[in-house]
Formats: sequence, structure tokens, C-alpha cells
Amino acid sequence: MIPSSFDYVRPSTVDEAVQALASAGEDAKIIAGGQSLLPVLRMRLAAPTALIDLGRVPELRGVREEGGTLIVGSMTTHYEVQGDHLIAEHAALLKAATDTVADPQIRHRGTFGGAIAHADPAGDLLAPVLALGCELVLAGPGGRRTVAAADFFRDLFTTALAPDELLVEVRVPKHTGWRAHYEKFNRVAQAWSMVAVAATVRTEGDVVEEARVALTNMGSTPVRASAVEAALVGAPATAESIQAAAAHAAEGTHPPVDGNGDVEYRQHLARVLTGRALMAAVG
Ligand SMILES: Cc1cc2nc3c(=O)[nH]c(=O)nc-3n(C[C@H](O)[C@H](O)[C@H](O)COP(=O)(O)OP(=O)(O)OC[C@H]3O[C@@H](n4cnc5c(N)ncnc54)[C@H](O)[C@@H]3O)c2cc1C
Repeated sequence: MIPSSFDYVRPSTVDEAVQALASAGEDAKIIAGGQSLLPVLRMRLAAPTALIDLGRVPELRGVREEGGTLIVGSMTTHYEVQGDHLIAEHAALLKAATDTVADPQIRHRGTFGGAIAHADPAGDLLAPVLALGCELVLAGPGGRRTVAAADFFRDLFTTALAPDELLVEVRVPKHTGWRAHYEKFNRVAQAWSMVAVAATVRTEGDVVEEARVALTNMGSTPVRASAVEAALVGAPATAESIQAAAAHAAEGTHPPVDGNGDVEYRQHLARVLTGRALMAAVG
């Protein structure tokens, strides 16, 4: 189908984008890679009066480092994240999850910020962003503010972004030397996760010193598996202690029920996939 008609604005700075969003009113929408928004427009499930296209705002693109933090611009594509040497060295979990997103065409168009702002609970980048303790920088008419990932994801497709704000960048604390794995379970290749587990650990000798684990599609937002983390820290990096920790993965989760599975099945998956993710991460 053809989308309803809309005004089209293409700013070249963040300030221009914020102004365009403010003057277009609350029925305006940001468009980034368009991979989630365009299907919605074509099915006429949304009919924004204006689209603000961030595709020509250079300051929103790329990865750079600032001390102990990586700054990932919201318009950095999935393909660019996959190939970035700073991400590979300091945030291996992000690369591992991005490798599983859709197919090469979508990874060339879709953006890191678009996936996060869209906040699909089955999206693969939300759990890594939560697990790594990232911060999101938002720009609006009142200036910029920073929101922790734990406070950003509010509900199904709902975030802390106000209608007149845009996501500028994601601040990723460096996890240099941490090993990581993203274990995704889906029915067909290149589909969204039924359930997935983002795990990253730092070991010293045979002991797990630090662990961060988060779950995809086990609730209306990504969920931190705190009980798993608590069971792992200080434990020997053995199959037995990993499986014992993974047994806590479903605690406190409220997964969706759909044609792919019910609550019990998804909670079973969460435990099994957490075991696999941790085994792979620990190596
Ligand atoms: C066939 C298919 C398969 C897919 N499979 C997967 C998958 O396996 N795993 C996965 O994680 N994702 C998957 N995706 C989604 C893909 O990752 C998208 O790229 C992503 O969800 C949206 O990114 P985008 O840049 O295309 O955003 P857009 O579609 O342009 O925007 C999405 C939403 O976010 C808002 N938005 C975008 N950028 C900003 C910003 N900077 N500030 C404020 N709001 C903003 C838009 O207004 C819109 O509401 C798939 C998509 C398709 C079409």
C-alpha cells in the first residue's frame, strides 16, 4: 500500500532536527533507516503529518571513544556497528547481538538508534544495551538529557523519549577484556527473537569476577537477569556452576504468549539459552 501523504524535512544538524520536530507538532515522526517505520506507514498503521529524516545529520553517525566510554551515534547502521574495531574490542556483546539482526540488506539501512527508539521487546539490541549499563543521550527543545538504559525502556514500544525529543547517541561503558555471547532462538533464519540471552563475563583464572546478563522478549521491556548474575559472581567458571546460575534465568519474568509459545515454554527457553550463552561466553 501507499502511505498517507506527509511533509518531508531533511535537517543537517541535531539542532535543526529538534526545531523541525517542534514546529511539525506531535503528529510528526523521526525516520532513521526506515526498516521498522516504513512497513508501518505502508500498512497505514500510522499516518504522521511530517517525517523528519535524520539520514543527512553527520554528527549522529559513527563510533568514537571518550575515556572509558564508547559513544555510538544513533544513525550508525547495524552494518557499521558490526565492523567497528572499537565495538569489537570494548563492547563485544553489542557486536555479537548485532550479528544476529535480520539480513545484510536490513543491517545496511537499519540503525542502532532506530532499533533502540523503536523498543520492540523482540529486538536484539535492547538487552545488550541494558546489560552493558549504557546511557542514552536525548535532545529536545529544552536541551540534552541523559537517561540510563534501565530507565529508558518503559513498556512495549514505549521509551522515555518525549514526542519532541530524538535519540542522539548511546554511551557504552567499555567492557574491555570481557567475553560475550548472544544466544538467539527463532523459528526461521533472519527473524526476530522468540527469546534471546545477552551474556558478558569477566573471568580471572577459573573464577567469574563479573557477569552481566539480560533477556530479550521475556517481558514488555528487556529484563536484567540479576539472580543469574548474583549466582555467578565469585563462582568457579565450570559447567556445573553455570548451569546452577542459569536455573534462575526466568525468575521475575513475564514473557508474552503468542503462536510461538506460552509463558512456561519461554521460561524454559530462557533457562536453556542462558546456560548456552554463558558456556559460550566463558569459553
Ligand atoms: C524483515 C525485518 C527483519 C528484522 N529482523 C530483526 C531482528 O532479527 N532483530 C532486530 O533487532 N531487529 C530486526 N528488524 C528491525 C531492524 O533492526 C530495524 O533496523 C530497527 O528496528 C529500526 O531501525 P531503523 O533505523 O530502520 O528505524 P526506523 O524504522 O526509521 O524508525 C523506527 C522507530 O524509531 C523512531 N526513531 C528512529 N530513530 C530515532 C531517533 N534517533 N530518535 C528518536 N526516534 C527515532 C522512529 O520514529 C520510528 O518510530 C527487522 C526489520 C525487518 C524489516
